[in-house]
Amino acid sequence: MSTAGHARQFAPPAPAVEARRNLIGCDVGELTAEMATIGAPAFRARQLWHWIYHRGATDFAVMTTLAKDFRARLAEQFVIERPAIAESHHSLDGTHKWLLRFADGQEVETVHIPEEDRGTLCVSSQVGCTLTCRFCHTGTQRLVRNLSAAEIVGQLMLARDALGEWPSPNDGRLISNIVLMGMGEPLYNYDSVAKALKIVMDGEGIAISRRRITLSTAGVVPMIKRCGEELNVNLAISLHAVNDALRDQIVPINRKYPIAELLDACRNYPGLSNARRITFEYVMLKDVNDSPAEARELVRLLRGIPAKVNLIPFNPWPGAPFDCSTDTAIKRFSDIVFAAGYASPVRTPRGQDIMAACGQLKSASIKKRRSEMTFAAL
Ligand code: SAH
Repeated sequence: MSTAGHARQFAPPAPAVEARRNLIGCDVGELTAEMATIGAPAFRARQLWHWIYHRGATDFAVMTTLAKDFRARLAEQFVIERPAIAESHHSLDGTHKWLLRFADGQEVETVHIPEEDRGTLCVSSQVGCTLTCRFCHTGTQRLVRNLSAAEIVGQLMLARDALGEWPSPNDGRLISNIVLMGMGEPLYNYDSVAKALKIVMDGEGIAISRRRITLSTAGVVPMIKRCGEELNVNLAISLHAVNDALRDQIVPINRKYPIAELLDACRNYPGLSNARRITFEYVMLKDVNDSPAEARELVRLLRGIPAKVNLIPFNPWPGAPFDCSTDTAIKRFSDIVFAAGYASPVRTPRGQDIMAACGQLKSASIKKRRSEMTFAAL
């Protein structure tokens, strides 16, 4: 398959170390404190909030509700800065993937998936990932670091810049939903993720409701309760296996938090109801986890949990040690789960031609480094 659109943009040369502070990623309290440092009253923070998070301003000069000399003072002290775009890829199916570069040169990917009735932004929470799930490409990249709240919110702001979606529309949004299903384990970077999501959910700014945000975890059990109590976003669990022996192998965090503990945490997730279910993600791996017996075991495990099951055809990546289940096996599995009363849609792979589909994300810098090594070895 070919890449429909591809552009490598070279970031401008780094300016002599930026001493001005970035206001993106600041919550109201921090904005207020920043205003205090230049002797401005607290209500300025609310005005800035509106300009930054509702209007999407990137330059103080456009903030016409503020006096001109005050705007100039702000510009001396602060910036409103998005991550830089290192690469931008368009899929033939409309999916758009950005490779973003942060000030320290680290990179992550963000993916926009347009659908008929909504648009979803798949956001990364870490550079790389420590979990080493066997079927996930990101897991083969060594973890480099957690993202800051600014870098998480920045992904959304940059995507909205690209889609021209400012000020925040009331409805019909191109980015109506957010999934924390990009690179990284969001519950291993909880503080930054929580701070970023609180900014995103604020009704006077970006204003995306918690009902339209889904956090996906491989099962960091001790953080699930807190996530429910503090953020109460939708929860997705990367389950992928119905017994500990197999899950220990393919989702190694299971050795720390086995299936029974994980499902207990799910059962107790605040606010669950039939209208608000946990999504269980299950990647379909040929002859590994896709038998009818496993489908029946899955149904048994989920008993008593308001749940839906998302079957994900395995997306291949270079050197992956698995194949995707056959269509027949996926259908058979889905029928069993469905017959037991659970919605069990099969996720349509999106953006496969640009390596933007689930589990295919990996920073190009790392890939490049590897190819350079190969070259050097020749
Ligand atoms: N660490 C979190 C967030 C990443 S979500 C988590 O594990 O939930 C990424 C989703 O894509 C997970 O459900 C993951 O299991 C799935 N996935 C990973 N590799 C995949 C692949 N090669 N094909 C299909 N889905 C994959």
